[in-house]
This record gives sequence, structure tokens and C-alpha cells, in this order.
Amino acid sequence: MRIAMISEHASPLSALGGVDAGGQNAHVAALAAALAELGHQVRVYTRRDDAAAPPVVAAHGFEVVQVAAGPATTLGKDELLPYMGAFAQWTAADWREHWQPDVVHAHFWMSGLAAVTAARACDVPVVLTYHALGSVKRRHQGAADTSPAQRIAYERELGRVVDRVVVQCQDEVAELLLLGVPRSRMTLVPSGVDIVRFRADGPAEPRGNHRSRVLTVGRLVERKGYEDLIRALPAVPDTELVVVGGPPAERLHADPYAQRLRALAEQHRVAERVHLCGAVAAAEMPRWYRSADVLAATPWYEPFGLTPLEAMACGVPVVATAVGGLTDTVVDGITGDLVAPRDPRGLGIALRRMLGDDLRRVAYGAAAADRAVHSYSWQRIATLLVAVYTSVADRRPTSPKFPREVVV
Ligand code: UDP
Repeated sequence: MRIAMISEHASPLSALGGVDAGGQNAHVAALAAALAELGHQVRVYTRRDDAAAPPVVAAHGFEVVQVAAGPATTLGKDELLPYMGAFAQWTAADWREHWQPDVVHAHFWMSGLAAVTAARACDVPVVLTYHALGSVKRRHQGAADTSPAQRIAYERELGRVVDRVVVQCQDEVAELLLLGVPRSRMTLVPSGVDIVRFRADGPAEPRGNHRSRVLTVGRLVERKGYEDLIRALPAVPDTELVVVGGPPAERLHADPYAQRLRALAEQHRVAERVHLCGAVAAAEMPRWYRSADVLAATPWYEPFGLTPLEAMACGVPVVATAVGGLTDTVVDGITGDLVAPRDPRGLGIALRRMLGDDLRRVAYGAAAADRAVHSYSWQRIATLLVAVYTSVADRRPTSPKFPREVVV
């Protein structure tokens, strides 16, 4: 099949060894590579943010097309909505003139807008993965949410007009039902993990001089729950907390949130046990997971959450908050322990229990690796998605009801 993917703000090129990789970048890069591996032709369309970048870049078996839409500079994703019309026009022209796809898979709601508009012009069916929902973000972040005001309304409308919504976890199903998207329009296919790169055997990062290591990984943002981990640490003796993610190490001292975490660690008298490492290249991540006794993933909310899955594939048990996709990937009492979000006391108890019980950690780690390999390999996930693409490919494209003024 010819599969077009649209990932307007999250380029897969950043994920292929880069340090500014978030979950969507990693997901799109790995999915595109897995689909190519299965013999499909894949082109990923992403917004061009560097005037010097070549328009088409060959990646791991697929192509990344850098779409001219808006200024060729880095922009925050919340600034991109005005350029989605231009994105759609550029993409539709590319399809008409060079490469007509059989299906387009859009990642994130703004990509969905561009996909629906371009697909209508070219008769291509659209599959949408939201990755994150505006309604959830608004609930948790309130006034701090900088998403465009129209986001939630567009997400609702997209759910009704695309040919298929691919949801990534049970929690997302419930959120979309609340939003008014019919269950019959959704298919659940989770994200995946590269089980060749992320595996238990292989080199590990050296450890500090504490007995145990708790690792946590992610962008340095409040909702990831790092403050809860620091507050939990006094109850977890002789253990270091290693935080991977955020700006590169050399710029970490200037990061306001890193400064806040350091101050909090001082306040709780655990500063010498908390290590902020900054961003680590994707290629280096397996070494960090393998160095840990336990991976802590303690967000307040999480659409899917790749880092627990990556740790599981490396045979590392997980302590995670029971939110979003984590309640699907982490099987409580089998591959890890689930705790309530924003509860440092409960978190401390769970971590101390896990670190004090070698047998439990070995059993969890083995079950975690087993689950990652059997349920979440990219080969399996890509095969499930090809079935979705095939089922929509013969149908007529998106509904003509979609308002023309959705993009500007
Ligand atoms: N990651 C990375 N280097 C870092 C921090 C994170 O490569 O320094 C990767 C990590 O391995 C994972 C992704 O970024 O693949 C984070 O995905 P997740 O879904 O956990 O969080 P998101 O960034 O989407 O909120």
C-alpha cells in the first residue's frame, strides 16, 4: 500500500537519534519504519521548520517530506493552526502531481484537519490518531492550557468525519465517548516498542554509589509528576533518583523547571540523591533503562506513555500512576505496581516495597519483557494498523459535512 502519514509538528527525524524527541515523534518514526519493513511505501509529511532542510529526506525505509507551511523556523505547536490550510494545499498538490496515497494516517488533531482537507481534494480515506486530547489537557491544566480555543470542538468534529479513529488505550475510548465520538468509529491499536533496540541484554549506564536506582524519563514538565517523586524519596532510603529528559545537559542549569526541581530536592534533603541528566539521544535510551532497578512513571495524566513500555522491553519493572495508557500497559501486580497520581506517600511506599524485594523485581521484570515482546512489538502493531488501512481503503473518503472553514 501507499501510506501517507501527517505529523504536522512532530517530525520523525527528531526521533531518529535526536534529543528533542517526544512520544509522537518516536511513534511516527517507528511506525513508518515498521510499515516499510512490511513492504509498504510510506511518506511522512511534517512541517518544514528549517529553510536549509532538504524537501525530502530518506529515513529508515520511508521518506520524510518537509511541507512548506508558515515560516521555516521552529514554532510551538500551539501556534501552528493558522498554517494548516497551507499545509493541506501543499500536501494535496504533492498527491495530485507526484504520489497519490491509498490512505492517510494523521497524527494529532491539527494533522487531522490538514489530512481531511487534503484528502477531500484527492479522494483518500483518512485514519486519525489523536495522541492527546484537548478535553483532558483542559481538565488538568485549566488556564495554563495554551491550546487554540477551537481545539476541543475540532477534535469532536474530526471524530465524526474521519473514516476511522485509532485509539491507543481504554481511557481514550472513555474520553472520546464523553466527547460524543461513537464507539463504532474507533479501533483500539496501542503504540508499540522497538524490541530489537529495547531488550534486557546489552550495555548499561554506570551507576552511582547508592544501592538502588529509580529512573524516570520524559520532558521536564510539571504534569510528569517529578515533584511527587522527589517528595517520595525521603521514604526510599539509599536510593538515587535519575531523571532523564529536558534540555541538553549543558543548558539544564538555565531551565526554570530544572531549577525548581533542584530547590525542591534541597528542601526535602535529598539533593545529593537526585540527578538531573538532561536530554539523552534516543539511541542511548536502552542503556539508561538497563541501569535501573525500577522505572517510575508518575504523570498526573498521560495519553499513552512510551517510557514504561520501553523499560518493560528492557526487563525493568515499573511503578506507575494509574492514569491513561499506563493502566493498559502496566499490569498491576504482574509487570509493575500502579499507584494513585499526585500521592507522594503512596508512591514512596510502593517504591520502597519494590526495591526491598529482589524476587518481586525479577518476576515483574521477566513478565514485563514478555508482555512488551508479545503484545507491543512494532511488527505486531503495524500489522494491526495495515488491517485498519485496508478496511478503509476501498471506501469513499471523508464526509462532505466537514465545514470548509476548518482551516485558514
Ligand atoms: N526520550 C528520549 N530522550 C530523552 C527523553 C525521552 O529519547 O532524553 C524518548 C523516550 O525514550 C520516549 C519518548 O521520548 O520514546 C517520550 O515518550 P512518552 O510517551 O513517554 O512522553 P511524551 O514526550 O510523549 O509526553
